[in-house]
Amino acid sequence: MGLVETPTTYRNYIGNWVESGTAAVFRVENPADTRDVIGFFQQSDEADVEKAVTTARAAFPDWRSTPAPQRGEFMFRAAQIIEDDFDGLVQLLTREVGKSLKDSRAEVRRTINVLRFLGGEGTRLAGETVPSWQQGVVAYTKRYPLGVVGVITPWNVPSAIAAWKIASALVAGNTVIFKPSSLTPTSSLKLVQAFVDAGVPAGVLNFVTGPGGKVGNAIAAHPDVRAVSFTGSNSIGSAINKVVTARGARFQGEMGGKNPFIVMPDADLELAVNDVIAGGLGEAGQRCTATSRVLVFEEIADKFTKMLVNRISSMKIGNPKEESVEMGPLADEGQMNTSLHYIEVGKQEGARLLCGGERLTEGDLAYGYYVAPTVFSGVVPDMTIAQDEIFGPVISVMTVHSFEQAIDWANNIRYGLSSTIYTNNYAKATEFIDQIQAGLTHVNMPTTYSEPQYPFGGIKATGLGGVREQGSTAMDFYTEWKTVYTKPKD
Ligand code: NAD
Repeated sequence: MGLVETPTTYRNYIGNWVESGTAAVFRVENPADTRDVIGFFQQSDEADVEKAVTTARAAFPDWRSTPAPQRGEFMFRAAQIIEDDFDGLVQLLTREVGKSLKDSRAEVRRTINVLRFLGGEGTRLAGETVPSWQQGVVAYTKRYPLGVVGVITPWNVPSAIAAWKIASALVAGNTVIFKPSSLTPTSSLKLVQAFVDAGVPAGVLNFVTGPGGKVGNAIAAHPDVRAVSFTGSNSIGSAINKVVTARGARFQGEMGGKNPFIVMPDADLELAVNDVIAGGLGEAGQRCTATSRVLVFEEIADKFTKMLVNRISSMKIGNPKEESVEMGPLADEGQMNTSLHYIEVGKQEGARLLCGGERLTEGDLAYGYYVAPTVFSGVVPDMTIAQDEIFGPVISVMTVHSFEQAIDWANNIRYGLSSTIYTNNYAKATEFIDQIQAGLTHVNMPTTYSEPQYPFGGIKATGLGGVREQGSTAMDFYTEWKTVYTKPKD
């Protein structure tokens, strides 16, 4: 372990860096080695949220009247600050979330890209002008910010998801209360620090750490919080949705996925195997867009699964601080136990375990939450492992006999986030794009691929609120329209 530094106690940001009124803190550990304590964070409560809302409300009029292109400039500055400390944030993400260095680099790059794209939205915050029926009438629409908005995020993408929600809200002219996940708040705090260093005025962005049931719930229930953007699990998201919409505020929920990956008989199998591994085992399967169901045609199923298992057997699993490690630990004990539980359920339901299936505890791995990459074959739609979001390194291979069955099984799920098909058949790929029930779809690309200039989000049980994040739709959730009719002269 080497020299151990005394962990820092981090504070909330409510107009300034401040301690919670509770005087209590919680601990954040490295999931690859729990002897490594990353820091302590404020165990805030409803009173801290009240202060944050008061502060955000007071900051709103000046921020609202700051021209949108100038608001966008702060995003560009924050992006540059993050880029200047690229490796620092990469190391932190790996230490706090357990991602491989490659996956952490991808998240930091994504954070920078979303900030730059959304900063540019300040100059594109457009309304529309269409002809009036009346002579002399000039009519148009304008967007206005809502006021104070809440941002509640999950632990698995603690920098980029927070960045795209906060940047959308701020560029639109809102002030923000941000509650990060208690598992990975340090990476989120670094983002807040970048906004502070970029000169975002005090009170415009507030950061409050603490339990979801207290801090998150107080944000959701507060009458002055005009909208809440949430990413996380279905159970929590559905519960918050009720609290927020019952008081007439807006709710945007991006939740779980169980994403299908179809391998057609003509597919490039090397590419498909690589991308199943990238999408299914990258970040140890803990991504909403993770590949979790692989639907393979029977004529290539044996060959494909052999190639997949063979490639997985040579993967390096371990502490992700080492460059060569391809898959690190799960985020905490709860995540690890959930995966191990589903592996047992899969075995009991009659799926065939092809590899993995156990916790890894050799040497120093015993200090972390490691689960071996696991592949089941013979999975059919009514099995629990084909329906529930496991959020771990568990891939279910399902053998199909026809294109119709592949589409039918792919859609036989309550979620609708991402999807992909591997084929060189243009007609089949087009049919798949039209038939698949998902907010994101791909051809010969992994389920996890996305770019910030396109809308991101899911349908069915994955997405609530109906307004996509990022892309041309990013500003819709954070603004309201005013329609203006003018008659410059009689
Ligand atoms: P979670 O639902 O447990 O927590 C999400 C956030 O909600 C955390 O900040 C948590 O503290 C807070 N929270 C908990 N209880 C609350 C309450 N009663 N009121 C208000 N807030 C509360 O989710 P998680 O375990 O952090 O994240 C994993 C989940 O996130 C997975 O289901 C994954 O699919 C999903 N996810 C979805 C997307 C997407 O874009 N669709 C992206 C990443 C993760």
